Amino acid sequence: MDIKHTQLLINGEWVAASDRSHTTLINPASEEPLCDVATATPQDVAAAVASSRAAFDSGPWSKLDGGARAKLLWKVADLVERDAAEIARLETMNQGKPIFESAKIEVPFVASLFRYYAGWADKLEGETIPVVPGFLNYTLREPVGVVGMIIPWNFPLLLTVWKLAPALAAGCAAVIKPSELTPLTALKLGALCLEAGIPAGVVNVVPGRGSVAGQALLEAKGVDKIAFTGSTEVGRTVMRSAAGTIKRISLELGGKSPNIVFADAKLDAAANGACSGIFYNKGEVCAAGSRLFVERRVHDEFVELVKSKMARYTPGDPLDDKTRLGPQVSRAHRDSILRRVEDGVREGAQVAIGGKAASVNGKGFYLEPTVLTAVTNDLSVAREEIFGPVLCVIPFDDENEAVKVANESAYGLASGVWTQDTGRAHRVAAALKAGTVWINTYNVYHPASPFGGYKESGFGRELGAQALDMYLEKKSVWVSMR
Ligand code: NAP
Ligand code: MG
Repeated sequence: MDIKHTQLLINGEWVAASDRSHTTLINPASEEPLCDVATATPQDVAAAVASSRAAFDSGPWSKLDGGARAKLLWKVADLVERDAAEIARLETMNQGKPIFESAKIEVPFVASLFRYYAGWADKLEGETIPVVPGFLNYTLREPVGVVGMIIPWNFPLLLTVWKLAPALAAGCAAVIKPSELTPLTALKLGALCLEAGIPAGVVNVVPGRGSVAGQALLEAKGVDKIAFTGSTEVGRTVMRSAAGTIKRISLELGGKSPNIVFADAKLDAAANGACSGIFYNKGEVCAAGSRLFVERRVHDEFVELVKSKMARYTPGDPLDDKTRLGPQVSRAHRDSILRRVEDGVREGAQVAIGGKAASVNGKGFYLEPTVLTAVTNDLSVAREEIFGPVLCVIPFDDENEAVKVANESAYGLASGVWTQDTGRAHRVAAALKAGTVWINTYNVYHPASPFGGYKESGFGRELGAQALDMYLEKKSVWVSMR
């Protein structure tokens, strides 16, 4: 495949890194080099920030009204759809996710996000507030400024757009730092933003190492806000670094989400949900339903049902549209998942199915889809994020116990509940400490519905109208009428 954009995008120009360095990307399915991509230095990040700063403070972007921004966002959505097949292929070849996911789910979601936030761009209204006689008080909503966006490798394009679409609608400028492993679709998106007519410097893209380019962005004086998705560990670094210049921050971090199956649930549907909840994107999903709680009296039957569904997730070529389980993103990540499974077994978990490395035509960083039973909530596999296709099954006896143990986690990102008892469904939804609860479904998203974490899963909500608040300041204006 001809990969066009492999340089840094700074101020509307495609440039090499200032020290000419680059990173070789590996296709995780073939283990072959895919292409070389420029690796941004701190100087490159500084140039990108300066360009975004100028576009925001004095450039054409600062003079556009919301309606004009909306038109540009619509144009980007149209271009994403025009190039949908190419974008999906880039994502799949770089990340390893099945083309079914990139082409049928994620690229269409990206186009709809640009349109959803385009709709908001000219509706960012303030309010008039009744205060005391003799005074008029009103508010103005103004863009926060330059936003540094730090993106993980699991949804390289989608998680960029979760940030970029509301930020642009709000009138901000962006410097995007994709993961060094998966920069290709963010670069392509940068090209589409330019083609759509978004002025140079409004969207800069600087692939590079987290500890170098990412850290430079965290510390840059010209950055007003950091929007971060990634691990809880790096999230703590973001908080510490942002303190230097009091940057606004939002953090979407890790998860160890409970998926709770009561005996009265439609078990067949629940088993499908348990599988898609952990095997979508090979388990490299922050919201993955990695802790499966099953009511004890249907536990054995349910584990068998889950196993019977797993032929669908046989490792396959991610470019084949029938494949539902691709390779892990890298060899290092695949090996780290295997080590965590071994730790779990050493601590007492049993492998019900899977648990080993796999390959397709002798190649690729694949894993067998895996189910661990005899797990208790205190084992490392139930406490720590594995970020792979590894489902940990934990039995429970009643509703109170299910809720209590589900909430015993440092994380609080998402959760699932399967039951036909509507009273119980809503009781449990209210009791779970998680930013999302899915009832009799799992892993559904929409541009209008908020997503984010409780506890160490982070703070701030992406998607929906409230995501705009993260990219806007509110100014209070007082007028004396005396
Ligand atoms: P990560 O190591 O935290 O990396 C996330 C991003 O931060 C990458 O762009 C990374 O760059 C960068 N980075 C690393 N060290 C940095 C530093 N010192 N300063 C600034 N930036 C730095 O996470 P990951 O391994 O890529 O992704 C997996 C994790 O992300 C999982 O824990 C998962 O739960 C979480 N996640 C959460 C959500 C959510 O919405 N809550 C969504 C997806 C993923 P490099 O990759 O180039 O090092
Ligand atoms: Mg990392």
